[in-house]
Amino acid sequence: MIFDLHSHTNFSDGALTPQDLISRATEKGVDALAITDHDTIDAYKVLADKHDNIELVAGIEFSTQWESNGIHVLGLNIDLDSDAINTGAQFQTEARLIRARSIGEKLAKKGIQDAFEGASKLAHSGYVGRPHFAQYLIDIGKVSSMQAAFKKYLGAGKAGDVKQHWASLTQIIEWIRGANGIAVLAHPLKYKMTNTKLKRMLDEFQQMGGQGIEVVSGQQLPQQTQYLAQLCVQKNLLASCGSDFHMPGKHWAELGVFSPLPEKVTPVWDRF
Ligand code: MN
Ligand code: MN
Ligand code: MN
Repeated sequence: MIFDLHSHTNFSDGALTPQDLISRATEKGVDALAITDHDTIDAYKVLADKHDNIELVAGIEFSTQWESNGIHVLGLNIDLDSDAINTGAQFQTEARLIRARSIGEKLAKKGIQDAFEGASKLAHSGYVGRPHFAQYLIDIGKVSSMQAAFKKYLGAGKAGDVKQHWASLTQIIEWIRGANGIAVLAHPLKYKMTNTKLKRMLDEFQQMGGQGIEVVSGQQLPQQTQYLAQLCVQKNLLASCGSDFHMPGKHWAELGVFSPLPEKVTPVWDRF
């Protein structure tokens, strides 16, 4: 069985519609797929519960912060109808919009009008982020490329560099657990923390109710997989795996394409 428990649709920053994502996963031989859009479960609202040849695992990828690090936490096998997950998704969506409006106001002070409205029109279902502002700036002829948009208006230290205020890690884990889901730290090696810091974070994560880590995230080095599997065993964490697929054409993050979990770990799906 191939479980791909991390993927995105165009309800967040993915390129495919939920149905196209499922078709592609089926073609790639995935047996069980979790759609884990950033801070939203809206993709599931346009999908049927049952699909031929593939099992859907309800999921979400929450953004939060731990100390000064932005981190991502997956909620897997969640109850989509629970108050907890709906409250959580709504809170995070609102947080994203507050920030987007603030970016719009800051750009207005730089003489760029209606940037929030313009960016919103380019975004799908309220998922407005800096790439949409960048596209708007290109469309109105203020800059000639994404790179230029970030360099001049949106990147670090520029007008559009507005801090994001996500719900706390404790709160997010509470929402996931409240929806009878399993809280899994996504791609632990992407945060560029030292081993000591990562272990300290995982201790806190577990104290808060976090249960697993993503041991395999797309194509990665065998020693990375071994290191994370070892952490699972040491800390008695569940192991998850997924491609983190966003769009076709990225061979390191293709649906179902990653090495299997090492035998010594307990797969997260044992608890589904
Ligand atoms: Mn993404
Ligand atoms: Mn992520
Ligand atoms: Mn992701």
